[in-house]
Amino acid sequence: MDKIISVIRNKDPEQREFHQAVDEVLETVMPVLDKNPEYRQQAVLARITEPERVLMFRVPWMDDDAQVHVNRGFRVEMNSAIGPYKGGLRFHPSVNLGIIKFLAFEQVFKNSLTTLSMGGGKGGSDFDPKGKSDGEVMRFCQSFMAELFRHIGPNTDVPAGDIGVGAREIGYLFGMYKKLRNEFTGVLTGKSLNWGGSLIRPEATGYGTVYFAAEMLAVKGETLEGKTCLVSGSGNVAQYTTEKVVELGGKVVTLSDSSGYIYDEEGIDSEKLAFVQELKNIRRGRIAEYAETYPDVVYTPVDSTLDHNPLWDHKADCAFPCATQNEINEKDGENLIKNGVHLISEGANMPSVPAAVDMFVEHELLYAPGKAANAGGVAVSGLEMAQNSMRLSWPREEVDGRLKGIMKAIHRTCRDAGDQYGVSGNYVAGANIAGFVKVVNAMLDQGLV
Ligand code: NDP
Repeated sequence: MDKIISVIRNKDPEQREFHQAVDEVLETVMPVLDKNPEYRQQAVLARITEPERVLMFRVPWMDDDAQVHVNRGFRVEMNSAIGPYKGGLRFHPSVNLGIIKFLAFEQVFKNSLTTLSMGGGKGGSDFDPKGKSDGEVMRFCQSFMAELFRHIGPNTDVPAGDIGVGAREIGYLFGMYKKLRNEFTGVLTGKSLNWGGSLIRPEATGYGTVYFAAEMLAVKGETLEGKTCLVSGSGNVAQYTTEKVVELGGKVVTLSDSSGYIYDEEGIDSEKLAFVQELKNIRRGRIAEYAETYPDVVYTPVDSTLDHNPLWDHKADCAFPCATQNEINEKDGENLIKNGVHLISEGANMPSVPAAVDMFVEHELLYAPGKAANAGGVAVSGLEMAQNSMRLSWPREEVDGRLKGIMKAIHRTCRDAGDQYGVSGNYVAGANIAGFVKVVNAMLDQGLV
């Protein structure tokens, strides 16, 4: 394992997030290699950590003042052993190859856990949609797709949304794909309802993260009723996590964006959530406005001189990080434990640094890593693909029922894998082992390709 890790670090020394994701998976799957000597002989670790294909391309576009800009586009096609590449597109200035590789690597295991046939991929750009007009976003999306369309297809690679890519961007991307290929196919998921989208897809990641939390609590004979919850972010995942927590009787007291966070001791009810949705999805404003609208709400701007994020330093029972990677550092982890949080269900991908994860596992918290807890989004994307293939759309209750069933199955699979390898109750190891074994066995079945 050390050899593989040092090869990966030497090859791409700047890809820190990718190293972090690989370290975590490899550490937990070593017992599987010990039990299966052919995995070593077949060099499965070296194979699974090397993307099948990496695409990187120029995306030129023109702003409203006729000024030309150039961004960089990415698509990492990581692993197609169990199905077509599947994973979102992220538009955010922090995007680079290391971040897309980490997300694609995580996606392989996540998709494997969903029970559906989907390989893993991820893509995006360092383009920042914030402050851009609809016309600028459209021209950027069209230019991005003018290259990406050659590499994707409904049976090859099916992108979706992620940070900075929602219904508006998926629409523009789909329109350009359709024009270039002259075909109407399920090449993207997260589409609008009246042209091939699935009911419950927008809600799926947040709802799934809460369903997974409810499953973990059920093992202890508990429910979310009356529990105080910290949620970070205020985008797609945070909004629907909040909605489902409130529906199940919990109280959400925080939300954030990249400028700061709000603390609402009374709790965010459905009326306040509707305000957040209008603010973030339509007006694309800042969460600070929430505190100007509702009384007794405290807004705290981001303070980069602090060694911790004060959002995680409030008394609570549960935490749902739903913003971005590494948003919970070691100090935040200590604060969460100190404040009585005993459940963490990750809506975001890899939001906790490794030292915080180790602490959660050591303290035997109910801790669900993103690749298990937030798999509901891609699972319903898989259901969107199935509906597109059949040219049918299932009712809301049917999709939600299937989502619930899938989250239950993922929870069971993680627990069973943990029990089988002597790490009962450790959802990190359980998720990694179960996801890994399915993909590796498929790779071996298909020979050295
Ligand atoms: P959105 O773009 O809808 O929302 C992202 C939220 O996180 C915004 O509130 C944003 O603030 C905040 N945020 C983003 N980057 C940072 C940062 N560097 N520092 C502080 N805050 C930040 O994205 P999603 O809700 O779709 O995604 C959130 C997380 O969930 C990501 O980790 C994503 O990979 C993961 N995820 C998403 C899925 C999906 O179906 N959408 C599926 C599975 C995982 P601001 O408004 O200021 O930009």
